[in-house]
Amino acid sequence: MISKAVWEERSTRDQPGPSVRVAQTLIHLQSRSKESEALIDSYGRIARKLRISVTDACNFRCSFCMPKHPIWLPKKEILSFEEITRLATIFASLGVDTIRVSGGEPLVRNGVEELVEMLRGIHGVSAVSMTTNGFFLEEKARALKEAGLNVVTVSLHTLKKEKFENITGSSAYERVLRGITAAREVGLRLKINCVVIRGFNDDEVVDFASLACKTGITVRFIEYMPFDGMKLWNPEKVFSGREIIKRISESYELEPVSREPGSTSTLFGFRNDQGKIGLITSITAPFCGDCDRVRLKADGNLVPCLFSSNEYYLRPLLRRGSSDEQIADFIKRCFWNKDAGVERKLGKLLSIKHVRPMHSIGG
Ligand code: SAM
Ligand code: SF4
Repeated sequence: MISKAVWEERSTRDQPGPSVRVAQTLIHLQSRSKESEALIDSYGRIARKLRISVTDACNFRCSFCMPKHPIWLPKKEILSFEEITRLATIFASLGVDTIRVSGGEPLVRNGVEELVEMLRGIHGVSAVSMTTNGFFLEEKARALKEAGLNVVTVSLHTLKKEKFENITGSSAYERVLRGITAAREVGLRLKINCVVIRGFNDDEVVDFASLACKTGITVRFIEYMPFDGMKLWNPEKVFSGREIIKRISESYELEPVSREPGSTSTLFGFRNDQGKIGLITSITAPFCGDCDRVRLKADGNLVPCLFSSNEYYLRPLLRRGSSDEQIADFIKRCFWNKDAGVERKLGKLLSIKHVRPMHSIGG
């Protein structure tokens, strides 16, 4: 059950309820010829952003992500770069225009910069970004830039060395900082992702805001989601976006920046400083109503909604000789069934269930 504090903070934004669903379906049918090549679900939401997990493996053991004893996918079940690019091209033909490469840790996959270049070459794809733990960024930043990567997001959850080791199981704090510096030096656009957990790092949100001011980097605070491999999540550990803003406002004057439709984060600038902070309020105020994302797991499973266990197997189609048209048609039919999302579950006060560990889907 969601705790009262979290429940009270949930968004009151419109969400697709049953009557909206029927209306949207009718609109969809009327405009079917126009939209027939778009990836659209039964609530009328259209996919524009594809998140690709290129591996479920990782060299870190973040306690809010990994199980204690992870078992990686067998190599033969992981899509090759050619298979990923073929699927991404099909998604692009259906209207997807931006791609995020994630994992597990994407930079543990050999030659992932070649994949970035292949994805950047797809007609209709205007931007490719990557989310990484930063461990290999120092040596990979230039190659990624040259491959055409538009944005790199480095996940960093503390600015304290010991705490870093505690949460990630890695002693690479300084190395990650050097990775961030290297990415900036080669001219990659950079963001930082920070998962905020009550009692663990909520005392650092002002330090992260100071970092954003000093460097001009956008720091995005992510509410802790119930996708930790060890199932330690509980609602009391969620430090909400509202609490984050309250805390930072005691030290800085913040100004809201208008949110782009489909964006996962609510942005704020500083009245007297550079830099921005973003809030990804997936638990207390999710943006399911205008979600424009679709996900592909490393094994080729299509996941329309992060909060749903529904997955659709694309790998057999790829490996058994289906045509691009057949795969596109299958993807469209699967995506049509995309769940309403977590907003409706919060609305009914149902508990949000652990669906899968985050390292298997990429965030
Ligand atoms: N290994 C890369 C990294 O850590 O950036 C990419 C994969 S990671 C699964 C993608 C994003 O999900 C990261 O920003 C990570 O911090 C975030 N994440 C992992 N577990 C989470 C959880 N339980 N709740 C919220 N965000 C989580
Ligand atoms: Fe690895 Fe990223 Fe999960 Fe941490 S959050 S264990 S770095 S996949």
